[in-house]
Amino acid sequence: MEAGGSGDIAAWADLFELEPPEEQQGKKKGLFGRLFTNLSTPRQAISPQIAGIFEGKLVDEDTWEELEEALIAADCGMDATLRVVDHLRKEMAEGRVTGGPTLVTALQKQIAEVTMPTAPKIPLGHEPTVIMVVGVNGSGKTTTVGKLAHRLSDLGQSVVVGAADTFRAAAIDQLSVWTERAGAQLVSQAPGADPGAVAFDAVAAAKSREADVVLIDTAGRLQTQHNLMEELAKVSAVVGKACDGAPHTTLLVLDATTGQNGISQARLFGEVVDLSGVVLTKLDGAARGGVAVAIGQELGLPIQIVGTGETLEDLQPFDPEAYAEAIFSLDASG
Ligand code: GDP
Repeated sequence: MEAGGSGDIAAWADLFELEPPEEQQGKKKGLFGRLFTNLSTPRQAISPQIAGIFEGKLVDEDTWEELEEALIAADCGMDATLRVVDHLRKEMAEGRVTGGPTLVTALQKQIAEVTMPTAPKIPLGHEPTVIMVVGVNGSGKTTTVGKLAHRLSDLGQSVVVGAADTFRAAAIDQLSVWTERAGAQLVSQAPGADPGAVAFDAVAAAKSREADVVLIDTAGRLQTQHNLMEELAKVSAVVGKACDGAPHTTLLVLDATTGQNGISQARLFGEVVDLSGVVLTKLDGAARGGVAVAIGQELGLPIQIVGTGETLEDLQPFDPEAYAEAIFSLDASG
């Protein structure tokens, strides 16, 4: 599909359980081409190894060991690696795969299965639906909120953005630019203001304007700083007072380039807020892009969205099959 076009809007509509815009109805999800192009860094790191393991020789014990090493080196984590390799061994022993390309196809299928067995949605339809975005500094929260505002506006949703990352003046400025471009409304206060108050105001503003969705950006709370984590729990509670059942979705933003560290971040955030799913950012720059597999296996948290670049369009609903095909392939070109 064309870069920056609206061809993937049908996939976004699917994620949010909305009707796609009329001109998109019946269109196949057009995500794969763009994902393939944007993920050339992880593909170039992982695919030659996969090709080297499977091409032109018989599959023996060494092959399985090499595959284990390659998956661990790619950040897939020990548990997921053993699960994937055990499954492939079984497939081979039972004659369902015979080696070479059929093994790579089976590998991709298994990677997708371990990463995300079901495709959960982010239901809208509350009045308003409140989506809170959390994660450590620099993971890509503010960028993701801006990109999401844009996507939701494209889907005909009226969006209010709450700039509750009040510690960083730059985050408020950045959001103001992104939300204006998205045609969304920004609710912010001066830097240093109480994040809970900003979040509360954003939900109240959305209610009075009858907006559909509130996106709440939060400060980059280092998981070791307990007072900041407590404050995050407070923001979540305050939002619940402003609107019944809110936040309806809490997305944890993880930077794919931080690898296994992301897993421990997720656990700590999960202790203070009720996480719904993960936005995995910077997958485009992750030389060890297998961390999505480890997240799926070890956290049981669905990856719902991936960030694959710095432009407005570089955010996509996560498609585990497309991910596995793009990164664990025999083709390292592009
Ligand atoms: P925050 O501190 O969590 O709010 O992080 P920001 O949204 O400010 O993002 C930090 C940096 O990461 C910025 O330079 C973004 O442009 C960059 N970034 C965010 N998402 C992505 C992505 O998916 N890919 C790449 N390559 N860069 C990203």
